[in-house]
Amino acid sequence: MKKVTLSVIISVVLVLCLGSLCVCASAAGVVTTNVGFFINGNRISLERDPVAINGRILAPARTVFANFGARVDWYPEKGYFNIVKGNTVISMTIGQNAAKVNNVSMQSEVPPILERGTVMVPVRFVAEILNIPVDWDSVNNAVLMGNRNEIASISRGEKKYIVVIDPGHGGWETGAAYGGIKEKDLNLDISLKLKALLQAEGITVHMTRSSDTRVGLSQRAELANRLNADMFISIHNNASTTPGVAGTMTLYYPYSTAYKNNLSSKTLASIVQNEVSRSLGSRNIGIIQRTDLTVLRVAKVPAVLVEVGYMSNSNELNKLKNDAYRQKAAETIKNAIIKALYK
Ligand SMILES: [Zn+2]
Repeated sequence: MKKVTLSVIISVVLVLCLGSLCVCASAAGVVTTNVGFFINGNRISLERDPVAINGRILAPARTVFANFGARVDWYPEKGYFNIVKGNTVISMTIGQNAAKVNNVSMQSEVPPILERGTVMVPVRFVAEILNIPVDWDSVNNAVLMGNRNEIASISRGEKKYIVVIDPGHGGWETGAAYGGIKEKDLNLDISLKLKALLQAEGITVHMTRSSDTRVGLSQRAELANRLNADMFISIHNNASTTPGVAGTMTLYYPYSTAYKNNLSSKTLASIVQNEVSRSLGSRNIGIIQRTDLTVLRVAKVPAVLVEVGYMSNSNELNKLKNDAYRQKAAETIKNAIIKALYK
């Protein structure tokens, strides 16, 4: 009991001393903020409001970094603390920019401060050393830490977009077939890769098929309608009786009245077409109006069908056989979707 009292007295004295340090620091520009803190997508409450020095946010070390399995050892008598996570030890002193990370000297742009007994640390400096993703969301005036997916969805305004991916053909309906390669398999592989990439961006994805099964054409578009999805994107590969023909084209229904997120089917088609042909380096055949394609006609949301490449062209087929090329195709379609939704 006596010990506790003594330590309380010591901390009070120290708070007072360090309190004067804070006053100096305030003169050097400590400003209070109403910055929010999101960790893995959830808003957390802090015992002290974050402050800013020169635009750098400082927040309670223990509360923030405990969420990531870090421990804070605070030595008030020395005005010194360690933040320990796994094998990493960050040592800092209140009021000093100089820090040590596993005994290697580093310099923080702003010093940690003591705010009414709470150690406040420059968040980005510490997070980056501990390999914790951190982002600043100027729209919501918030610091976003942790899970990248959640960071992405929050920094874009918390709206969860829904995308329906439609891998063309399936089951006994193989689509085009060249050199032992079936279109349905290429379409599904690119679609599954695209699904993973979109999910990593915090987008909700529904597939019209996730395996080698046949799905009716109307049924595919109706899934998007039922979900009131933000877009429907059908993935195909092309074929021609002229082996020399190669390139990318994107199809849309010209009478589509769908309009969402400032997107019509035609705008979406342009964005997808330009992004995919540019990034794959394939010939840009352009956007093509099609009135005869059920999936596009039935869809009541912005809908496009991208023909990634020509399987009947041996050069393009060789590329399509390559896993890295299909990954690139998925990536560029993902980029187009992100551009279309968040532009
Ligand atoms: Zn097809």
